[in-house]
Amino acid sequence: MEHVDVLIVGAGLSGVGAACHLEAKRPGTTYALLEARDAIGGTWDLFRYPGIRSDSDMFTLGYSFEPWVGEKAIADGPSILEYIRTTARTHGIEDRIRFHRRVVGASWSTPDARWTVDVEDTSTGDREQLTCGFLWGNTGYYRYDRGHRPEFPGESDFGGTIVHPQHWPEDLGWQGKRIVVIGSGATAVTLVPALADGGAGHVTMLQRSPTYIVARPGEDRVADALRRHLPAVLDAADADIVFYLAGVDVAAGDRYGKLALTDEGIRLRDRYVIDAVRGRGLPLAIVLAGGYSPSRARTAELHAHVFREAVAYA
Ligand SMILES: Cc1cc2nc3c(=O)[nH]c(=O)nc-3n(C[C@H](O)[C@H](O)[C@H](O)COP(=O)(O)OP(=O)(O)OC[C@H]3O[C@@H](n4cnc5c(N)ncnc54)[C@H](O)[C@@H]3O)c2cc1C
Repeated sequence: MEHVDVLIVGAGLSGVGAACHLEAKRPGTTYALLEARDAIGGTWDLFRYPGIRSDSDMFTLGYSFEPWVGEKAIADGPSILEYIRTTARTHGIEDRIRFHRRVVGASWSTPDARWTVDVEDTSTGDREQLTCGFLWGNTGYYRYDRGHRPEFPGESDFGGTIVHPQHWPEDLGWQGKRIVVIGSGATAVTLVPALADGGAGHVTMLQRSPTYIVARPGEDRVADALRRHLPAVLDAADADIVFYLAGVDVAAGDRYGKLALTDEGIRLRDRYVIDAVRGRGLPLAIVLAGGYSPSRARTAELHAHVFREAVAYA
């Protein structure tokens, strides 16, 4: 029976990231990556409804070792899928994925200090077993074969088409149709404008409870500015080590009222800087810089926040 040190289950965003980390940080560790479907990307391959996109900014959702360089901080589904695929390819993970392999059971043996894992070949139904020392589930949080689908009383009398966004047919001709979207969560919020802008006859969102929405731009001002200037600065510096003076412009922002970043803005800026430095393979030293602020308490609070966030991320 095949034995690996680590068995990674799932080749979505998490599973690909897990394999990349193993390759980088534990060379020599044997591992296998099993994926039940025939494709990489998990969520970002499965969902194909119009308007699909992330809810988080990609500087947060993306990998620290593979900085997101797309223009949109809130990215569309196909771009995220391409990002996962490219990451897998770049880090030599793509060829390691065993597709059509669904983990259906696992049992732990204390005397042997290992898991015995039951795997089904989803294309043939054949079964096999593997053993591993560390079983690493990266399987996501919902059922892939069946999205949540309540029964609607009287739906058999409905003459139209009922579609679940998890299984959006590629050839669904929805243009010109009168559409009711049931629900008001993230999926509905992205779907409704895409349908309306894409030529639906009429769109109604049916919601049970109120949703609170803050409109934010898809691009990130801080990341855009850093993307414009930082790579050139780093390249020109020809540095062996980069000292990141965390906090300095935060205080200046307070002073001049120009750069006053929110805590979220600070976090994004730190991540972008750290990713850019790392992307060039340069050692990074984070230095808590002094600065002036009319309010000492505010300066101290911001510095503490910046330092904590930056160190935790680095
Ligand atoms: C429309 C949408 C938008 C989202 N936006 C965001 C966002 O902005 N920010 C955020 O943090 N999250 C978001 N999410 C949640 C999103 O699912 C996760 O962020 C992320 O993609 C999860 O990655 P994952 O690899 O953990 O899981 P998944 O993407 O679900 O991948 C799991 C993989 O494991 C495989 N698998 C499952 N069970 C088994 C098994 N038994 N054997 C073998 N393989 C198995 C699946 O086939 C799949 O490929 C969003 C989700 C949706 C649906």
